[in-house]
Amino acid sequence: MEQKNERRDFLQKCWQMSAIAPVAGLWLVACGSAKKGAAASKKPKVTAANPCEDLTGVPAVDVEKRKSLGYTSLSPIPDKQCNNCQLFIPPKEGAECGGCLLFAGPVSPEGYCTYWAPVV
Ligand code: SF4
Repeated sequence: MEQKNERRDFLQKCWQMSAIAPVAGLWLVACGSAKKGAAASKKPKVTAANPCEDLTGVPAVDVEKRKSLGYTSLSPIPDKQCNNCQLFIPPKEGAECGGCLLFAGPVSPEGYCTYWAPVV
């Protein structure tokens, strides 16, 4: 008798799970598509004609650091530019943009930020 009840309970649970499973599947699919939508909207748009301003793939933390340091791709001070800064990483051969030791992403040789330090 005890065994029959266990079997009945098991079958009832299976029946309940089969009713929930399709709903759970739809819910998971909906979550996946919501994440894709969120990721697509977070992607930076490439609107810059200057390749040194294209921040595609640059981590958000570095984009924020650029902003907080006041980085601009065209220096407002003619004799203070990235290409005569101690922290500048020169462009690789054939490339237009260099880099900076302070953050990731392309840096214009004509750029500038508040951390500019003269080459000694
Ligand atoms: S510290 Fe500023 S000025 Fe110097 S290379 Fe980096 S971004 Fe340019």
